[in-house]
Amino acid sequence: MDYQQILNTIKTELGSQQYTGKVASYIPELEKIPPEKLGMHLYCINSGHYSIGDNTERFSIQSISKVFALTMAMGMSGDELFQRVNVEPSGDPFNSLIQLEYENGIPRNPFINAGALVISDILISKLDNPKKEFLAFIHKITDSNSIEINSKVFESEKQYSYRNAALLNLMKSFGNIENKIEDVLDFYTFQCAIEMSCKELSTAFITYANRGKKLANGDDVLSPQKVKRINAIMQTCGFYDEAGEFSFRVGLPGKSGVGGGIAAIHPGQYAVTVWSPPLNPKGNSELGMYALERLTTLTGFSIF
Ligand code: GLU
Repeated sequence: MDYQQILNTIKTELGSQQYTGKVASYIPELEKIPPEKLGMHLYCINSGHYSIGDNTERFSIQSISKVFALTMAMGMSGDELFQRVNVEPSGDPFNSLIQLEYENGIPRNPFINAGALVISDILISKLDNPKKEFLAFIHKITDSNSIEINSKVFESEKQYSYRNAALLNLMKSFGNIENKIEDVLDFYTFQCAIEMSCKELSTAFITYANRGKKLANGDDVLSPQKVKRINAIMQTCGFYDEAGEFSFRVGLPGKSGVGGGIAAIHPGQYAVTVWSPPLNPKGNSELGMYALERLTTLTGFSIF
């Protein structure tokens, strides 16, 4: 498969693709990112790295961090974790409060904000220094020790965290949050403010395409059984209330973030990340979805 040629074709097509989406503005610092930024990086298990555009420029990974947080939490927990967070698609926006009230403070899945906040709470209870250990985990799976948070994005989101604070308060009222609301909010916002490039995200995500083993050295990050579960949750819940549409158009498990990034995997084959900041009305990168749809169409392979 000539992945570089396929990515070059996608780049040409993207050049003439009009978008109507808007860069996320509810975190004011994110709105400053130029909408024309565009990068894509594919890391193939057998044949290495392929890329186009701004693929080595770091951007705010936002909700893509939820995959790493879940990986850490599952690495330290058994099935009891899933008594506090479910594994069903929500069909609601990422920051919705509605289902939580009906469903007694148990979030639908770990990739909507409510579920990710429960995972943050679990990590805070289990780790001595959650921020340091979370970054260390990302350094370990990427071999990029310079990955850090963007403190402006962190502060910017913290000032406008009303909905996430509301989700935490509601869940605490149901007894599903152990730690202090401000501590959980602080750690959750920190993980979302991490910046990585498409290349670094593909390097991290190759682990999920490689049965939980780091490709660079074969180290076990997570068992194949747990990776299967994370990939299943990415497939069914990785794209807010557009997970069905993403499966339908692209056919790969993945996770998006409001920074405009999407990381996806083809198990046994590759990890791919695309970054384009303008978001469609459901909060997913508009051109990112287009690029990944073209990838599985031009290669002729998805997981289905
Ligand atoms: N930090 C963002 C929030 O909680 C993440 C949203 C996202 O990327 O889906 O609103």
